[in-house]
Amino acid sequence: MAVGVQPGDDVLVSSLTFAASAFTVTYVGARPCFIDSEPGSWHIDPDLLERELDERARAGRLPAAVISVDLYGSVADGPRLMQICATYDVPLIEDAAEAIGASRDGTPAGRFGRVAVLSFNGNKMVTTSGGGALVSDDPTVVARARHLATQARNPAPWYEHDEVGYNYRLSNLSAAVGRGQLRTLAERIEGRRRVRSAYERRLGSVGGFTFQEIPDGVVPNHWLTTVRIDPDLTGTVPTEVLAALHERRIEARHGFKPMHLQPVFAGAPMVGGDVAADLFATTVSLPSGSRLTDDDVGEICDVILACRP
Ligand SMILES: *Cc1c(COP(=O)(O)O)cnc(C)c1O
Repeated sequence: MAVGVQPGDDVLVSSLTFAASAFTVTYVGARPCFIDSEPGSWHIDPDLLERELDERARAGRLPAAVISVDLYGSVADGPRLMQICATYDVPLIEDAAEAIGASRDGTPAGRFGRVAVLSFNGNKMVTTSGGGALVSDDPTVVARARHLATQARNPAPWYEHDEVGYNYRLSNLSAAVGRGQLRTLAERIEGRRRVRSAYERRLGSVGGFTFQEIPDGVVPNHWLTTVRIDPDLTGTVPTEVLAALHERRIEARHGFKPMHLQPVFAGAPMVGGDVAADLFATTVSLPSGSRLTDDDVGEICDVILACRP
């Protein structure tokens, strides 16, 4: 709403994400239209996005916004996406919910696009148990968001409202909890980096196990280490691996199921789709907490590797 999306508008969204990225579009009565991922980084494919914007510009139906997603703690190619969106004068929204503390070419996640969002949900790197933040250096966006998030109160000596507002602000108590965690964020990122590299050492040396590529210049926060398991090279699939892990009471999940395959978005327009569908069929998000020891990671890898015929 703060960047001017209206009911009936189209908004382009990366398909491979958590559903909240697309739910926001429907909250304002707009329509999410999904874009496939690129194979290496798994982020929104900038070439597909550029082509789609070009076709839409020619047809006179540019979207009201583009939402890119920083996936699993890495950072999408913000500079390139900003340049593409600027060409068509479409605002870029960066969903940095998973990426607090990560950076690209020295710029922190959340600084790409006209506006970005962070999540402080219970499963995220900084958590206030619930809630999040909107980040922008555009003062009109900030003022508009603050107005809408605080019940749209107009400046008047009485309670005066000329539009519908929301109670979307973070409470001061929650904010205090989150600020406390910022002090130890770097340590927790370092812990998760260590866990990721332990998985990479062990699984990466076996054929058929690959990890989300970290592009040059990206320093992820390593929120979730997600592995791609090639069915032909390993002879196993995520469903099998997850069953074996769960039997040992080890919590792990499928990688995100893309939005264009979700029943709730059936019929929504999709540009491409094979890459995101393949990633859903082949990826597992592994236990990634910073307190895991090398022995824990070793045990998890043993269970995974034993799934191979
Ligand atoms: C967690 C998450 C959200 C939602 O955050 P909430 O705080 O639950 O609203 C949005 N987008 C992505 C990509 C997420 O991972």
